[in-house]
Amino acid sequence: MNFGTVTPDLNEQIAVKTITPIQKAKLNPKSLRLAINAQCYDCIYDKSEQGTWRQQVEACPSANCPLYCHRPKSNSLSEAA
Ligand code: SF4
Repeated sequence: MNFGTVTPDLNEQIAVKTITPIQKAKLNPKSLRLAINAQCYDCIYDKSEQGTWRQQVEACPSANCPLYCHRPKSNSLSEAA
């Protein structure tokens, strides 16, 4: 097997998985969903804290925020519901 040809593909896969919600929103600037996701990510996500960005946003305590009802939820809880 030629590992020289495998490495670039693996790097591309890793790059796709690590794109942030802000970067996703910039790639699709007409998407309201992606804009809200990006705003909430930018507002509350702290990578030094526990949980994924979606889990941290879902745990947002600011019920008075206009985006609160539209904030993204974590995938694991959405699938379980
Ligand atoms: S819903 Fe919470 S995380 Fe999202 S913008 Fe409002 S305060 Fe920030």
